Amino acid sequence: MTLTRADLDSLPAYVPGRAIPGAVKLASNEVPLPPTAPVLAAIAEAAATGNRYPDMAVAGLTARIAGSLGVDPARIATGCGSVSICQQLVQATCHEPSDEVLFAWRSFEAYPILTRIGGAIARTVPLDGELRHDLEAMAAAVTPHTRLVMVCSPNNPTGTVVTRTGMERFLAAVGPDVLVALDEAYHEYVTDPDAADGLPLLDAHPNLVVLRTFSKAYRLAALRVGYGVAAPEVASALRKVCAPFSVSAVAQAGAIAALDDADAMLSACAEVVTERVRVRAALLDAGFRVPPTQANFVWLALGERTAAFAAHCLEHRVIVRPFHPEGARVTISNPEENDAFLAAARTFAG
Ligand SMILES: *Cc1c(COP(=O)(O)O)cnc(C)c1O
Repeated sequence: MTLTRADLDSLPAYVPGRAIPGAVKLASNEVPLPPTAPVLAAIAEAAATGNRYPDMAVAGLTARIAGSLGVDPARIATGCGSVSICQQLVQATCHEPSDEVLFAWRSFEAYPILTRIGGAIARTVPLDGELRHDLEAMAAAVTPHTRLVMVCSPNNPTGTVVTRTGMERFLAAVGPDVLVALDEAYHEYVTDPDAADGLPLLDAHPNLVVLRTFSKAYRLAALRVGYGVAAPEVASALRKVCAPFSVSAVAQAGAIAALDDADAMLSACAEVVTERVRVRAALLDAGFRVPPTQANFVWLALGERTAAFAAHCLEHRVIVRPFHPEGARVTISNPEENDAFLAAARTFAG
């Protein structure tokens, strides 16, 4: 007899990036800088009311996000990180055993896990030869059972983006009856003028949801806050399936302060954009296969050499994120940490 769902036994666990004291951590796409002083002050102030429940409606933060994006607050749904919004999307769309969630593979490792936890079926479409979403193949893979499509741009872990025209064609091909989520966790790092930007597409596509997070460029990963922007009915459904009080008072206050201090909080982005060009060029020079990236990480298509590469980097006290036997994802950090990684990569003989 078993007390819990038998299918959970075969469910892969989410693997977090490792943290080893003294080592350079390039495994979780974080910014290696603490939040700014005004943000820390707001967090401390909120912590002082830690005995009280937070505002369940997350009204202050929702209004602040809506104001900064220029959208109606009714279009915003917040959650405990945007990974929670991904889970809420599955819960808000799938309830029949035949319901399917479609996404590219390889993409964000949380998608298959959250799909299966939600009792839905994961359908995947391989990335194309350049490690980009194959949106035409994805549109062709939509069936009457498809309830949700996840599109990740820049794609974690390959760093590639979908183009605006590609996304427009995809939305037209999929039609209005399937919810499409554009996961923009790395939006702040995108500089390609042809890359898709979800917000301007929302008005024409009530079935589109744009996902953003404070964990990556806004460097508040520990606070756990992200959000979706969607049609008001969709945002309202996302709020309904959210666990009560998911966004803590500390997270709400920290995120508001981060938006108020956005220039300083995002000050590391420009250097990351410069550094990703330098790091990729150095890796190509050293003979690695690395697709162009619009995120704060690079993907090394190492195939069967992936595990050995990660072990080699660890010997050099650099932690990368291996997805054996496909490749390794390495966060772009400051020049010093990037140089530590490049020194390790150049001496890899695998
Ligand atoms: C990091 C990440 C997220 C969300 O992270 P949270 O910390 O839960 O906000 C969502 N999607 C992708 C693709 C990511 O890489």
